[in-house]
Amino acid sequence: MSIAENVKQLLAELTEGVKLVAAAKTRTPDEIAEAVEAGIGIIGENYLQEAEKAYQEVGSKVKWHFIGHLQKNKVKKAVALFDMIETVDSVELAAEIDKRCSQIGKIMPVLIEINSGREAQKAGVYPENAEQLIKDITGMENIQVMGLMTMGPATIQEEELRACLRETKALFDSIRKAAMPNIEMKFLSMGMTDSYKIALEEGANMVRIGSRIFGRRG
Ligand SMILES: *Cc1c(COP(=O)(O)O)cnc(C)c1O
Repeated sequence: MSIAENVKQLLAELTEGVKLVAAAKTRTPDEIAEAVEAGIGIIGENYLQEAEKAYQEVGSKVKWHFIGHLQKNKVKKAVALFDMIETVDSVELAAEIDKRCSQIGKIMPVLIEINSGREAQKAGVYPENAEQLIKDITGMENIQVMGLMTMGPATIQEEELRACLRETKALFDSIRKAAMPNIEMKFLSMGMTDSYKIALEEGANMVRIGSRIFGRRG
């Protein structure tokens, strides 16, 4: 099936209120443009350079979400391009985003990345440390915390994955209930091609899908 057909099928499948992020790593600007033509409104990029190339072709008619690991020396360029950064997992990274945004007069919506599988080598803050991280970020004037994001371990059984997603959803709800100042718990970004159906059942309202749209990566 074509990219356009995949997008249309997926959009028809998703319920109202669920945001679809097209995860575009390794895809060409033309492939991304085709997805946008078919109705994609949010592009997720893992790499700044790929995003800059795609942005030249597609431009600001869609929203751009950063979903990769953001290095400090890339923050200045990243904040100029992206509409949301989904992968904030440290005070240091948040402080750099805040600083660079203040220089260009921008308030950056961010999601806190949760390492829901508690995998030592992976990005994201452990669930038990998320609330403290958010407290440390709330005072930053050029950052708006808008929710949580998680990947979940890649190679596990469905029940284990569900447990990770469920814990992230519970955390999302508890932070929302705590009603901290300057925090708007609006988006829960979880689920990829092989897991988005499970993630939606577990309460995600934003899914990041690559292969199901663009085909398997080479
Ligand atoms: C690649 C990627 C996705 C999408 O993965 P697929 O399995 O291709 O759907 C989602 N989120 C992040 C952070 C990614 O890097």
